[in-house]
Amino acid sequence: MTKRLTILGATGSIGQQTLDVVARHPDRYEVFALTASTRWELMAPLCLSVRPRYVAMSDEAAAEQLRNHLRQAGSEVEVLGGNSALAFLAAHEEVDTVVAAIVGAAGVRPTLAAVEAGKRVLLANKEALVVTGALFMDAVKRHKATLLPLDSEHNAIFQCLPAEGVNEGVERLLLTASGGPFRELDAEALKQVTPAQAVKHPNWDMGPKISVDSATLMNKGLEFIEACWLFDVPVDKVDVVVHPQSVIHSMVAYRDGSVLAQMGTPDMRTPIACGLSWPERVESGAQRLDFSALTGLHFEAPDLQRFPCLRLAREAMEAGGTATAVLNAANEEAVAAFLDGRLGFTGIPDVVERTLQRQDAPACQDVESVMNVDRQAREVACRLIEERGC
Ligand code: NDP
Ligand code: MG
Repeated sequence: MTKRLTILGATGSIGQQTLDVVARHPDRYEVFALTASTRWELMAPLCLSVRPRYVAMSDEAAAEQLRNHLRQAGSEVEVLGGNSALAFLAAHEEVDTVVAAIVGAAGVRPTLAAVEAGKRVLLANKEALVVTGALFMDAVKRHKATLLPLDSEHNAIFQCLPAEGVNEGVERLLLTASGGPFRELDAEALKQVTPAQAVKHPNWDMGPKISVDSATLMNKGLEFIEACWLFDVPVDKVDVVVHPQSVIHSMVAYRDGSVLAQMGTPDMRTPIACGLSWPERVESGAQRLDFSALTGLHFEAPDLQRFPCLRLAREAMEAGGTATAVLNAANEEAVAAFLDGRLGFTGIPDVVERTLQRQDAPACQDVESVMNVDRQAREVACRLIEERGC
């Protein structure tokens, strides 16, 4: 049976790699809808080659530009505009699987729309889960959605866990971290790093926001929170291990001393193919691991002094309520400011920590209230960035 897909964030790194895997299996997957935000020039060629039924741009002006362009090119793809169009296509009755690959909290509503429609949801957009936490996981249960992680670490843990998930026999989850491009820099040198250096990850080719998150270790912090929610484990059952080669994508330690690891070359098409086809396996296009060429696997503990974001994320998860939403909102604003030269690299954890100290983070019963906290936290973070400067 062909599976029909909506790809949220189709123009991004994960979106395009998903399309690469999908194109290898025209008998299995049909692209029903693609969505993006403003980059209609990237979306236009995707529409012409993939020929989805629908495309949606959250930005209305971008939708209009795309509509005109596609009309001139003779394409019959229907172009929608606005945020509600994304949620509509994520929840559409003709769709089986939704790839959630928007970056940041902008993905909360469309991803939740897919969950609430009971879809098979392949989650790359970790921020959606970090922001809404229990509300997200409750919605998965209530609406009988199937949630499969695309984040390479969580996909690895998912593969290493027993079929029924975490049970008595599971002792710990071990999240591996590459350590990012600045793993060996001292505290003084970290102050001087530039956006161009930060977006160049040693092992993975990713969008700019997650690349900066990998450099600060906030990505691992968000993944720590993501692991607690996805696998329903307390914070003290999750460890982070720095492993610069990114060959082991994460591990599960069992109470009898066994440790199961999932390995592969660092290529997101492997977890994407796994999520798309699970429980079957399909060709992903990823290069195979050549053990004779591996020169040794290295492991070390993360340095929380130089990279405080991981500590902040763990503390936010322990604090509960909407602290992880505050953490995420402050981080999104700080990363955006760093990328356009308004904040230094070491200002990122500083802004996040001070936002967490200033912003109330009450427990919320609905997404609307969580998004209110998100808005307030952004205001606090933006003020701090302005006051602080570079
Ligand atoms: P990119 O920046 O490459 O792509 C982001 C996508 O989201 C684009 O399609 C973009 O559209 C869309 N988007 C951005 N803002 C909005 C908005 N306000 N409303 C709707 N759509 C929006 O990101 P990545 O692909 O790198 O990352 C996507 C997610 O996957 C992130 O949550 C990231 O943490 C996660 N992830 C990524 C990995 C990777 O290897 N890249 C690995 C593991 C997880 P437009 O092009 O129009 O701006
Ligand atoms: Mg990851």
